[in-house]
Amino acid sequence: MRLVLLGPPGAGKGTQARMLESKLHAPQVASGDLLRAAVKNRTPLGVEARRYMDKGALVPDELVLKLIEERLNQPDAAGGFILDGFPRNVAQAETLARMLENRGEKLDRVVALIVPDAEIVKRISGRRTCRNCGAMYHLIYDPPRNVGVCNECHGELYQREDDAEETVRMRLKVYAESTRPLLEHYGRLGLLSEIDGMGATEEIERRILRALGVNDAAA
Ligand code: AMP
Repeated sequence: MRLVLLGPPGAGKGTQARMLESKLHAPQVASGDLLRAAVKNRTPLGVEARRYMDKGALVPDELVLKLIEERLNQPDAAGGFILDGFPRNVAQAETLARMLENRGEKLDRVVALIVPDAEIVKRISGRRTCRNCGAMYHLIYDPPRNVGVCNECHGELYQREDDAEETVRMRLKVYAESTRPLLEHYGRLGLLSEIDGMGATEEIERRILRALGVNDAAA
C-alpha cells in the first residue's frame, strides 16, 4: 500500500504511521525524522535544513525531495510505504506523483487526520520524544514508565526544539497556508479520506483501517 498521512503537526501522524507499519507491511517514511537525522549527523543538507526547522518554517523543497527520493529507493519501500509529513505543499505532491509515475507506481490513498488547533497546542507542548529510537510520549496522556526514559530502548526523552509553544503556533500557520490546500488537491484526485483524529490511538487506527478497507483482525 502506498499511503500518505496528512494532518497538522501533532495530529498523530507519526503514532499512527508506526502502528500501521506491521498491519500494512509497509515502512513509515517520515520527512521530519529524515531531516532530524541529517541535522544530528551535521551533513551539509542537515546544517542548511536546521535554519528553517528551528523557526518552524518549511525546509526548501529540493532538500526534502532529495531525502525522500533516496529513502523511497531503498528496497524495503519497493512494495509500499506510509509517508508521514511529506508532501507538505502542492509542489511536493506534484513532484511525488511524477517520481512515482517514473517507477510505474501511484498513490493508493491519502488519509487526513482532522484535529482542532487548540488540541494540537495541548498535545505538542506535552510531547516528549526519544533521542535514540524516536518513540513519542505525552507527559499527561501517555507518560513513560520512568520519568525521562524511553520504555522501548531506555533512550533519553527530550522536547524537540520546534515543539516549544511559540514555534508550534508558527508551524500551525505554515500548515494552514501551505499544507491544508493538499486536502482539496487530493480530494479532487479522489484519493482523500478525512478521519476524525480525536480519541484513543487504537480507535483512530481502526477508523483508518476501515477507510483503507483493511480488515483489522486479518491484518
Ligand atoms: P515534522 O516532524 O513532520 O513535524 O517536521 C519537523 C520540521 O521538519 C517541520 O517543521 C519542517 O521544518 C521540516 N519538514 C518536515 N517535512 C517537511 C517537508 N515535507 N517539507 C518541508 N519541510 C519539512
